[in-house]
Amino acid sequence: MLDLLEKISSFQYHEGILSALKKQDRQIYEFIKKEYERLQSTLQLIAAENRCSRAVLAALGSIVQNKTTEGFPGARYHGGCEVVDDVEMLAVSRAKETFGAQYANVQPHSGTSANQIVLAAMLERGDKILSLGLDQGGHISHGASVSFSGKFFNVENYYVNRETFLLDYENIRSKAMAIRPKMIICGATAYSRTIDFEKFRDIADSVGAFLLADISHIAGLVIAGAHPSPINHAHFTTTSTYKPGGPRGGLILMGRDFDRKIKVEGREMILWRHIEKTTFPGVQGTPYLNNIAAKAVFFKETLTEEYKNRQFKIIENAGRLADNLLDAGYDVLTGGTDNHMILINISHLRPGMTGFIAQKCLEDCGIIINMNRLPYDEKSMKVTSGIRLGTPIVTRNGMGTKEMDRISVLIDTVLQSVNAVSNHQYEIKNSLMDDIKSKIRNLCGEFPIQ
Ligand SMILES: *Cc1c(COP(=O)(O)O)cnc(C)c1O
Repeated sequence: MLDLLEKISSFQYHEGILSALKKQDRQIYEFIKKEYERLQSTLQLIAAENRCSRAVLAALGSIVQNKTTEGFPGARYHGGCEVVDDVEMLAVSRAKETFGAQYANVQPHSGTSANQIVLAAMLERGDKILSLGLDQGGHISHGASVSFSGKFFNVENYYVNRETFLLDYENIRSKAMAIRPKMIICGATAYSRTIDFEKFRDIADSVGAFLLADISHIAGLVIAGAHPSPINHAHFTTTSTYKPGGPRGGLILMGRDFDRKIKVEGREMILWRHIEKTTFPGVQGTPYLNNIAAKAVFFKETLTEEYKNRQFKIIENAGRLADNLLDAGYDVLTGGTDNHMILINISHLRPGMTGFIAQKCLEDCGIIINMNRLPYDEKSMKVTSGIRLGTPIVTRNGMGTKEMDRISVLIDTVLQSVNAVSNHQYEIKNSLMDDIKSKIRNLCGEFPIQ
């Protein structure tokens, strides 16, 4: 009977997903096809993006999405959870294994939600947070005034050094001493050098603060040992799961502090239990179980040598791209990179050049990057002095240093040929644009998405 179910219902049901969509909603089906074609014919160099496997997509698009429940495996609020309990427990055990963690929570809907859960669990309204500012490379959810984190808490920032653009730990320490925050947040969206989590913990301990390490951008590198791990230094480690190449979503991990006792409203609580209570019912509702299934599939992939080797290639490719652009005269912040991303002050290329123009003209030539505000940037969010490049997707698609050489030449050709007319407008020869576009299309064609 089970065999029959396997053969007929489950198998055919899921195999037929795309054809069902095609039949029922041609418009969305065509948009999805178009998006696939866009991804296949243009170069993806956005540092915050990655590409998940077809197996991850299958789990995301599975019938598991229909299960509604609340709570955690073994303590759910609805019946019929025996299968999804297994799914979530497997996701948790694989997450713990891949990160070397004592505790994993796979329920956060996003990296932002993961941070929100930790902050809501550990802080009262008005408590002090010390974090890297948004315009310095930090994330919105680390205390920006436009986010929940900035609205409910009292946020102070630490800064990178004005000359070197590196984190200055002595400065962070003295700031922590002066402010006495309850939470220190480290981790960044725009920082291309190694982060010393051990030092951060030492600083946090010296002022009695909790340490949250948000490794969204570098989680894959941490898994592979290509960047030091914060798991046993930080009280909490959070990450988005799409940046290292999984489904969209978030993750909370804990190392040695996971079963520490804390006082919550006068009552003794175990830290990980308090995090679960804050996840549900504190911040979120029902878990996205299809997404949790997809996370489990992704975590299994991260345990392979192939995944780990790729993380080192991502760094090698980023290093090569950075070296090439430095040689071509670009102002690469910190003189290079230790991770997957490169930050460039593009306003130094020539007068009038902005991050916006660089992003737009590269996009029009089939090279997809993003503008980025740089530390101490004098230009606004909507213009910026900087651009950010990243190598996770090109590496995922099989490109190596030879291709990085080709890409650097193409980027340089575009940026040298563009003429800024205003902050937002530019001129470039149509013939050049067409030439670059077709070269990019050919290059991407050599590395099909599989
Ligand atoms: C991307 C990112 C996040 C947000 O993750 P979402 O899943 O997009 O909410 C949080 N923190 C850092 C450091 C990030 O880079």
